[in-house]
Amino acid sequence: MNRSETLFERARKVIPGGVNSPVRAFGAVGGTPPFIVSGKGAELTDADGKTYIDFVGSWGPLILGHADEDVVAAVKGAAERGTSFGAPTEAEVDLAEILVEHVPSVERVRMVNSGTEATMSALRLARGYTGRDKVIKFSGCYHGHGDAFLVQAGSGATTFGEPNSPGVCADTVKDTLLARFNDLDSVNALVKENGGQIAALIVEPVAGNLGMIPPKTGFLEGLREITAKEGIVLIFDEVITGFRLGPGGAQDLFGVTPDLTTLGKIIGGGLPVGAYGGKAEIMARLSPEGPVYQAGTLSGNPVAVAAGLATLRKLLQPGVYDRLERLGKRLADGIGLNLRELGFPATFHALKSMSCLFFRKGPVVSDEEAMASDTALYGRYFHGMLERGIYLAPAQFETAFVSAAHAEDHVDRAIEANWEVLKSLASS
Ligand code: PMP
Repeated sequence: MNRSETLFERARKVIPGGVNSPVRAFGAVGGTPPFIVSGKGAELTDADGKTYIDFVGSWGPLILGHADEDVVAAVKGAAERGTSFGAPTEAEVDLAEILVEHVPSVERVRMVNSGTEATMSALRLARGYTGRDKVIKFSGCYHGHGDAFLVQAGSGATTFGEPNSPGVCADTVKDTLLARFNDLDSVNALVKENGGQIAALIVEPVAGNLGMIPPKTGFLEGLREITAKEGIVLIFDEVITGFRLGPGGAQDLFGVTPDLTTLGKIIGGGLPVGAYGGKAEIMARLSPEGPVYQAGTLSGNPVAVAAGLATLRKLLQPGVYDRLERLGKRLADGIGLNLRELGFPATFHALKSMSCLFFRKGPVVSDEEAMASDTALYGRYFHGMLERGIYLAPAQFETAFVSAAHAEDHVDRAIEANWEVLKSLASS
């Protein structure tokens, strides 16, 4: 047994599945997850001393790469001044001002500790603001593990969802309506059936938990139009896309402004952070200004805020997003060429520094099309890449990220490994 295997065995005795978040257990691809001991820039080192080029980036936050020196210095400095006060600090105001300045919909913002908390809180606020109970979400979009979002399409033609985890009450999810991503007709049908009862519509403006699927032209605009007409609070879940696709996230890139936005990942620079913000009028309904309750002992934690501020200040310097885009394009061009030359039946999606290789012929526009990917083949691809030192997400339906710490050579090595692994898969 190598050291990761030994650690995994120990872990499984005391932690369910050996992990603190399910996908890390490699259930979708098989095998033992490498235990990570350190990361620097675009590279990770595991407990057996093997290094990898990382395209997971802690599932999105590490847009500057691992252990960025400015982020580390900010974290150290903040920790030395005190790790938590449960009282207001100037740095929280600095961070809120940056979010308000760059994210078009955000006029005021509240910090929380995770993306899950951000979406749960945004939904409560939308319900409190509208006095309505129902919410529309899209099948296959992920908004964290709040009960109201753990819903899957019911069997048959029903549009009502069923809990997709034991422990989620049927009563809780009866107010969650499921639409289909990139399908405005499915939204219109739900709105018609539930007139005047829908508080919110929540969407990942670029789906990042179905693999990566960009919105079809007109989809986000259509959502804006429908929700505005019906007085439904439009929530963009930009936990992944916020500060990833640019300083203004997907809403700025596609020119569609929601009422509320949820953020996480990048704005915490790798520490546990989330945020939700939006129209001043809606945010004014939050306690203590308004009646909608939401709180947190560690919200706006000084160490986490310092990491987020250092990340955003560096990211917003001239040239960083251009570099991310160039690296993303280099990866897309390389993998696109590999697929064409090998005639391999897969579909590569790329948008700025986000990407996903679907193991099926395209197009992949809907959740159903994404779900029809060959996940067993993905598992073999994943292990082939891992053996060659390329660390990808251990599941088909995830997004790959490049960071500003990736060098062109890192990207080229991934393209080369992709070529070798696809070639061996094609001939086996
Ligand atoms: N929303 C989206 C779009 C996400 O991708 C995630 C997590 N991957 C979440 C919410 C939940 O965030 P967290 O894991 O920080 O609770």
